[in-house]
Amino acid sequence: MNPNSISKVRVIVRVRPFLPHEISDKNNDRTPCVSVLDQDSEYGEEVAVYLKDKDTSRNECYLLDSFFGQEDNNLGRIFYKEVSPLIPEIFHGCNATVFAYGATGSGKTYTMQGTDEQPGLMPLAMSTILPLCQSTGRTAEISYYEVYMDRCYDLLELKTKEIAILDDKDGKIHLRGLSRVPVKSMSEFYEAFSCGVQRRKVAHTDLSDVSSRSHGVLVISVSTPSGDGSVAAVTGKLNLIDLAGNEDNRRTCNEGIRLQESGKINQSLFALSNVIYALNNNKPRVPYRESKLTRILQDSLGGTSRAIMVACLNPGEYHESVHTVSLAARSRHI
Ligand code: ADP
Ligand code: MG
Repeated sequence: MNPNSISKVRVIVRVRPFLPHEISDKNNDRTPCVSVLDQDSEYGEEVAVYLKDKDTSRNECYLLDSFFGQEDNNLGRIFYKEVSPLIPEIFHGCNATVFAYGATGSGKTYTMQGTDEQPGLMPLAMSTILPLCQSTGRTAEISYYEVYMDRCYDLLELKTKEIAILDDKDGKIHLRGLSRVPVKSMSEFYEAFSCGVQRRKVAHTDLSDVSSRSHGVLVISVSTPSGDGSVAAVTGKLNLIDLAGNEDNRRTCNEGIRLQESGKINQSLFALSNVIYALNNNKPRVPYRESKLTRILQDSLGGTSRAIMVACLNPGEYHESVHTVSLAARSRHI
């Protein structure tokens, strides 16, 4: 395979199963709107993802890097195949990012956080990083924040705290005052993380369900102690991001604050896809400055960094899925 054809950002698809209430709905014939065409055919390292609307028989097909269907409902497999290869890189001084992308209800939060029975990519990454820290004498810390309407809020602080996004003279981005909590065990991780998850749910009480309209970013950073007691230098970090639900404004009737929010969301998701496209296609200029989200992630996208975008799909929503997959596919090579 031509090494230039390896995308710097892998784009993979995950289809969630139908939920119990969707199965019991008589009108739902339980045929998923998305499937994969022959996995290892002429497409080589790529998979052809096929979407079909059962009502109109309209269909679309897109090439992506990997496909995890409904029957492949195990986050451990996605983790070991896609995310765990990134982890040694963090110990070698690189940064990496995993995004969950898709409409509200498509399984982004489930994929990233998971449940008690089925841990998501965030706890799975932490539980892989911790023993590596122990065996290499490194330390791990987490930060957890959300980006809502282009503003950044610390989720590990007891009170809602806005974090300033600053450029330093070298053009590097700093999140001033963002908490970093040292983590030595999974119980320490869950203690901090669960509080953050709770905060993400209840913050901005004046607006309902902000969590699905903000980007939730967990950063696991690995540091090497200096030996002389001074501050440890960060070796590498992994960003795990539950992106805000993408919305197709032609199909929803958003008004007022909702319209503003969805404008900001779509703008930042579009900016992200432009950045990924520029990176994957070796464009000389990468448009990081188009949104707060891409500015914040500038040191973790491009250069030696690696990233994976998990496009999450609801098997019963054809238009929504086409919207998600087309934007995800657009970020890859053409
Ligand atoms: P999103 O964060 O994209 O809005 P959620 O992660 O909240 O979506 O998922 C929507 C619903 O689907 C939730 O009830 C969640 O528990 C369920 N769900 C999502 N993915 C799966 C899965 N892979 N297996 C079982 N249930 C899932
Ligand atoms: Mg969610």
